[in-house]
Amino acid sequence: MLEEEKEWNTYLINQIFLPFEAQLHIPIPRFDQVDCFYWKKARDGEFRVKLAYHKLRVQTRSQSEISKREQSEEQTWKDVWRIRTPPRAVNFLWRLLHKSLLKKKNLNKRGINFSPLCPRCWEDTESKEHISRECWFARKFWFVSPFILRSETGIEIFPDVKEWVKEMMENIQSEKRGLFCTLLQQLWRAKNSLVFEEKSAPTEEEVQKSCMCFDEFWKAQMIEKIKRPIEKPQISVNQKWKCPPTNIMKINVDAVVPHDINGGVGVVIRDEMGIIMALATKEIPYLLEAHEAEAYAAFWD
Ligand SMILES: [Zn+2]
Repeated sequence: MLEEEKEWNTYLINQIFLPFEAQLHIPIPRFDQVDCFYWKKARDGEFRVKLAYHKLRVQTRSQSEISKREQSEEQTWKDVWRIRTPPRAVNFLWRLLHKSLLKKKNLNKRGINFSPLCPRCWEDTESKEHISRECWFARKFWFVSPFILRSETGIEIFPDVKEWVKEMMENIQSEKRGLFCTLLQQLWRAKNSLVFEEKSAPTEEEVQKSCMCFDEFWKAQMIEKIKRPIEKPQISVNQKWKCPPTNIMKINVDAVVPHDINGGVGVVIRDEMGIIMALATKEIPYLLEAHEAEAYAAFWD
């Protein structure tokens, strides 16, 4: 250290230490004082085992909480992409939850001059929480929607829109999740129409548009399913079941996968004489495809 200048002797440091070591920024005290050991986790600088143990426990706990939160987030994203709704509604939901929607606040940051206030009430900042739930228009929208959401019973409990969407997704029936997404997207489209086209429709009309859009999508999905050719079985109908060789058991599995209710799998085990040794059936979630269900039956223990 250069005593008079109160600076590090960088030339000497670079000579002695490796480059990554020489980058350590250790502050130099302004006044002369004797060097001493100081543990910065304690106010008085004194090291105590009890405090160190406490710090370690807090650190470990927070790491496990982060990991749990990350797992839960990952599941939410998987669930989002499985929602049966028009692709643009899913895409919108993803952008909303990833904070990638262009809001006035963000446009202002980019130098585009807009009032940051909500274009309907001019009372609050146009945030995703305000547009999605808090504005009078959003409250009325959700109330007249098929979900009949009252603000005091659901919309305002969660401070963050992400938490609210997650809660909704968990609590509504799987086939209604798509409708929820479509409604949420329509709410934002209505806001954009007001801002960019100066068009405003009554709340009931916006809800109706959204329900019709979802209905059309749902019907199109149904028609698509009916049109889809039925897969021909791989095994020829003439192929007869044969007994297994001596001392070998044969296991056959099959699955039934209806589109609207839970399906089922069955397993039968026969010996070399064709005598049934074991038989079992089980209900399975209707979300499984036929080949997944058969694989499920084969691995069923
Ligand atoms: Zn508003």
